[in-house]
Amino acid sequence: MTDRFHLDAVPIRLESCGKTFPGGSRALEPLDLTIRGGETIVFLGPSGCGKTTTLRMIAGLESPDPGGRVWFGEEDVTALPIERRNVGMVFQSYALFPNMSVAENVAYGLKVRRVERADRERRVEEMLDLMHLGAFAGRRVDQLSGGQRQRVALARALVVRPRVLLLDEPLTALDAKLRDSLRLDIDRLLRGLGVTAVYVTHDQGEAMALGDRIVVMAKGRVAQIGTPRDIYHRPTDGFVADFIGAMNRVSGQAQSGALRLGRGAFPWSGPDGPVELLIRPEDIALAAEGEEDTHLDGLVAAAVFLGDRTRLVVETGDGPPLTVDAASRSGLARGDRVGLRLDPSRLLNLPQP
Ligand code: ATP
Repeated sequence: MTDRFHLDAVPIRLESCGKTFPGGSRALEPLDLTIRGGETIVFLGPSGCGKTTTLRMIAGLESPDPGGRVWFGEEDVTALPIERRNVGMVFQSYALFPNMSVAENVAYGLKVRRVERADRERRVEEMLDLMHLGAFAGRRVDQLSGGQRQRVALARALVVRPRVLLLDEPLTALDAKLRDSLRLDIDRLLRGLGVTAVYVTHDQGEAMALGDRIVVMAKGRVAQIGTPRDIYHRPTDGFVADFIGAMNRVSGQAQSGALRLGRGAFPWSGPDGPVELLIRPEDIALAAEGEEDTHLDGLVAAAVFLGDRTRLVVETGDGPPLTVDAASRSGLARGDRVGLRLDPSRLLNLPQP
């Protein structure tokens, strides 16, 4: 990607930004967050957790409760309406003008900003090329596929060189295959343009693939902020652990500096008593039943072939069944008996929300 597309990356700061809707309860607890210039930050969480409200406060479509401040770099934009913030927005519904051509849709924001015609045409053409839409310039958007429309929406948002690009569930309306390919396009764009971007989704795969950092939200609060690897490997509570990826629960018994778990005993520093621990499927190894150094035995209750691996549900007779991955060609099937070896260094002991 060429330098002429590179945008001035502006950091964004939310300072004590809470939101209470008239007549409603608090939708968002006061939030402090700094988004670095050029960073892609993803707000991830279940429906109603406050992701969209936060995005709309950055856009200028919603104002924070009194006391909250929104900063774009050194500029306090709290009182500025959306049209004076210079933000680009892409929604789940494309919000394009259906009876205008692709080029006219992309040119729209430049017209509003009174960019002179020759400059406008050059910038539109460059942006259409960048989005691989050059061949569709003259086509009406109601004659395009969903994926093409979303690329037009991205082009329209970016052509004005926004200070921040805001994306609210942009892939949700598309089918799985298209979603994957457009996600790769968005990734390439965000990295190449160096734009500061805020991306809202409830899809953890999208969040992990696109986010430099992920803000996991629950019930109007931030549950955790971190890189995708932090969030996945070092979740700070049970909600985050369960929300991102598959997670198993196993129970052990702590006594005199040791944790007993099935046949195993691991060094343990907590107080004596029952302990509930979490472990990811990939941190449990499969072995033959009763094999040396295994901790639990179980019965394969279900085996789902996923191509690159087979996901097993294993009942151990103690607690909920465990999800464990077997190699693609393992041949393990329902009714087989297996031994399980837990990686003690990967056991998580987390507070429950
Ligand atoms: P979703 O993925 O379903 O859009 P979300 O995480 O984006 O969810 P928000 O849209 O930010 O959640 O909503 C947070 C809370 O605020 C919800 O309980 C919602 O009902 C409430 N809310 C949002 N907008 C308004 C409004 N204009 N008036 C009253 N309540 C609102």
